[in-house]
Amino acid sequence: MNALPHSAFNPSLTLTLLFAAVLLLGLALKFWLATRQVRHVLQHRAAVPAAFAATLPLAAHQKAADYTVAKVRFGLIETAVGAAILLGWTLLGGLEALNQGLLELLGGGMWQQLALIASFVLIGGLLELPLSLYQTFVIEQRFGFNKMTWTLWLGDLVKSTLLGAAIGLPIVALILWLMGAAGGLWWLWAWGVWMGFNLLLLLIYPTFIAPLFNKFQPLEDETLKARVTALMQRCGFSAKGLFVMDGSRRSAHANAYFTGFGAAKRVVFFDTLLAKLSPGEVDAVLAHELGHFKHKHILKRIVTMFAISLAGFALLGWLAGQPWFYTGLGVTPSLQLLVPALADSAAVPNDALALLLFMLAVPIFSFFIAPLMSLSSRQHEFEADAYAAAQTNGPDLARALLKLYEDNASTLTPDPLYVAFYYSHPPASQRLARLGLT
Ligand SMILES: [Zn+2]
Repeated sequence: MNALPHSAFNPSLTLTLLFAAVLLLGLALKFWLATRQVRHVLQHRAAVPAAFAATLPLAAHQKAADYTVAKVRFGLIETAVGAAILLGWTLLGGLEALNQGLLELLGGGMWQQLALIASFVLIGGLLELPLSLYQTFVIEQRFGFNKMTWTLWLGDLVKSTLLGAAIGLPIVALILWLMGAAGGLWWLWAWGVWMGFNLLLLLIYPTFIAPLFNKFQPLEDETLKARVTALMQRCGFSAKGLFVMDGSRRSAHANAYFTGFGAAKRVVFFDTLLAKLSPGEVDAVLAHELGHFKHKHILKRIVTMFAISLAGFALLGWLAGQPWFYTGLGVTPSLQLLVPALADSAAVPNDALALLLFMLAVPIFSFFIAPLMSLSSRQHEFEADAYAAAQTNGPDLARALLKLYEDNASTLTPDPLYVAFYYSHPPASQRLARLGLT
């Protein structure tokens, strides 16, 4: 056999090794960070930090420590299971077996590709189900946060699966069609479609999707309504409506958000938030949300998402045409990719495989830029806090933040490196220090 010289570059094997190495590196990093977080939180469990000794009971501080530790430990199990599933799909041949089985059953074509993506999503969802159940009905339950009943949980599952299929399948079909029919620049078209789809989702989410899962009632408390309206006018905002959402149906965690575009903006308060905060504190929380709009954080996030997706689609456009992208990740592409002479024949397309492999592989690599995203998000939180303190008053905001952190059992003493990597919101201690209130 006149094999290639011994030193020849083998892109398929290189990808396999790179993928395995980066996966292992990411796992090691995640385990190391988690260990640090657990150790740090437990070390500070015995006493409330001095700056909060007067405002936070020891029991609440310890509950936060225990909740944090439980979540981090559970996160490690999720990470390990996720890595095993990922390996199962790729290098161990899961996706290959599923694809070959469906090819035998359906032949090659759009239906087979849609069936491949749908069954991949369903199987993945089933595999993750036990973990999600454990999180809700064991961990959240143990700390008193879970308010879900089994019927509600099951109803949510059925609804979100049907909704996912109704929204997801047509857009996936459209992208697959573009991949096959739009020529070399298909990825640019697909990106446009994907962005349009995301904008549409943002637009219809508050009015059409969220009400499928929660009840939204107009805010009835007239005094609060007057306060909130006055605050919004002062800040130069108008909203189509002020709503109270029955967040307490599922969880005791509290929140508020400001959503929508243009004139369709609406303010949504969780009922759990209104139950816990004084009117002044509600004002401060809303002003914080308005601060995100004033500083154009939402817009910046959307523009960033656009840019990242464009790079992602361009990369996918290139990778989808490389045989080693498939073989390196444990999948056999159909023949026309390997034999250029067959490229023009209407052979079995590889597009669904390319999409799935890309979705599986990207998080392994993008995990390493997570600290950049978290940093920018924490910066935005500080800016929104400063805005809220200027528009309402600092002490109200500080009290609201403390109550929310306490009610959500967020620890005041996280490990700084863990924070740098994962936290989208700065710890309460830092936020209060920025406000000059500790
Ligand atoms: Zn915020």
